[in-house]
Formats: sequence, C-alpha cells, structure tokens
Amino acid sequence: MTRSAKGAAESPGRNVRQKAGLNRAIAGTGWTAFAAMLECKAANVIHVPAACTSQTCHECGAADAASRRSQAEFVCVACGHSASADVNAGRNILASGTAASARRGALASATPATREISAEAA
Ligand SMILES: [Zn+2]
Repeated sequence: MTRSAKGAAESPGRNVRQKAGLNRAIAGTGWTAFAAMLECKAANVIHVPAACTSQTCHECGAADAASRRSQAEFVCVACGHSASADVNAGRNILASGTAASARRGALASATPATREISAEAA
C-alpha cells in the first residue's frame, strides 16, 4: 500500500511526489495503533487477508484481474456479475471473516470470561 513510486534511473516513476504524500498520510494514520485499540474495545476482531478480494467475484468465486475494469467498476469475466468494486470486495471480506469466525466457533465469546463452569455442569 505504501510502495514507493520513485522507480529506477532508467525508468522513473510517475506522480512520485503525489504518491509520497499519500504514503505519508497512510503511515500517519497509525493502523497498528487503531488495530490495537479496536482489539482492546471489541469482543471479537477477525483479521482477513485483503489479497485478491477486489479481483474475486462474490457471486461465482472466479478471481481475475481483468474483472476489475476500473477503480470503481467490477464486472466478472466468468459470470458477468457486475457491482461496485468496493461493494464486491466488501462482500468477499465479510464472507471470508464470517467463514473464519464459523471455523473458530463464533459464539464461543458469548460466555463471559469471568464465568466459572461448575463441576456438575461440565
Ligand atoms: Zn462471477
């Protein structure tokens, strides 16, 4: 996300100063501190790898970079499903997080940590 746009001497990058400003803003946001505070406050935080979520069709599961026609438009090359690229990626992230939660037992945290299970109930 914060890769430099500087390029090499033989092939210099484009919009280097703009990308440097974006990198500075991303770094200044403090994602690590935000994640730590969220994990402290929330009952359950699921980390979902974001790789390929914007190129994968939420309807059929086909992953192809060509489906991402523009920054905002997603049209699946396999099934023709079209949606906002952000909405499609968000649905993929939600599905991935829900599946991860189901594998670990999403309701496990419903029991308070301070509750003691008696020997008779166990
Ligand atoms: Zn599709």
